[in-house]
Amino acid sequence: MYDIVIVGAGVAGLSAAIYGARAGKNVLVLEAKVYGGQIVSTPEIANYPGIKSISGYEFSTNLYEQAKELGAEIKLERVLEVKLEGNDKIVVTDHNQYTAKTIIIATGAKFRPLGIEKETELIGHGISYCATCDGPFFRGKEVAVNGGGSTALEDALFLSSYCSKVHIIHRRDSFRGEEKLLQTLKGKENVEFILNSNIIELIGTEKLESIRIKNKETKEESELRISGLFIAIGQMPENAIFRDLIKLDPNGYIIATEDCKTSADGIFVAGDTRTKAIRQLTTAASDGSIAALAACEYIG
Ligand code: NAP
Repeated sequence: MYDIVIVGAGVAGLSAAIYGARAGKNVLVLEAKVYGGQIVSTPEIANYPGIKSISGYEFSTNLYEQAKELGAEIKLERVLEVKLEGNDKIVVTDHNQYTAKTIIIATGAKFRPLGIEKETELIGHGISYCATCDGPFFRGKEVAVNGGGSTALEDALFLSSYCSKVHIIHRRDSFRGEEKLLQTLKGKENVEFILNSNIIELIGTEKLESIRIKNKETKEESELRISGLFIAIGQMPENAIFRDLIKLDPNGYIIATEDCKTSADGIFVAGDTRTKAIRQLTTAASDGSIAALAACEYIG
């Protein structure tokens, strides 16, 4: 019987493990792929308070080692199912079955990819899914943002203060993002809109050099030379296995407020996979600590 089983060894999950272990609870972390989550492949983190600059790999490794040294068990197993047996939570993985008093879901979300050639190989070399994290590396450069939601508009606004020019490429001519943001962007001299258009090709070998865009109406194709492309076409939460256990919002995020409590007793949620406005490294770490302390309080 574990006090806390944490599903996911990203920043939220490992932060929860640190807090749970320091509170004297026996903690098991289950991770399907690799510890660190989304941040592990980020070349440089420069926005985590108290750490001027660190690679995503080093940051994740530090978190992992810290959690382990404090006594958390971390196993590379994919969680397939969570069942309730009275107050006990039964966690079924591809290798074992565990019983827990509480569960913290920290399975994260992944950025929706464009799904075109070279996208994966150019991540960190001109392709980014996080303007707040990577924007400052493009100071004085020409960049583009793809998407028409609030994330794309916020990203463009953020980038407009660093970059010489920001192109917003959107597949329609109206935006689902916040109107106020859109109006602010329209007033910016270095922001240009490319509407009714899709990115059809990424050009560059070692780094992104340009993109090919196709206008959906005129069918016209053009090439745009940019140093960075920020893809902001939505996210996909990774929590489908919990669908029957707890309440999700229409976009698939686990419904929870700042207390990280879900609709099920003894099941908590931390990080990007829950409903929230800001998905950042700092908010993932914050959620991890809140969820772990809430789990400790639940155990009593
Ligand atoms: P979103 O609202 O789902 O918008 C995704 C955008 O990407 C849409 O404009 C969509 O186009 C476009 N898109 C989707 N798939 C595409 C594809 N394959 N190719 C090209 N374009 C594609 O996602 P989001 O902007 O990340 O926002 C997610 C949620 O967080 C929303 O509820 C949003 O309101 C919220 N949010 C809130 C704040 C805030 O309150 N400050 C900030 C950011 C986000 P279509 O419009 O044509 O579908």
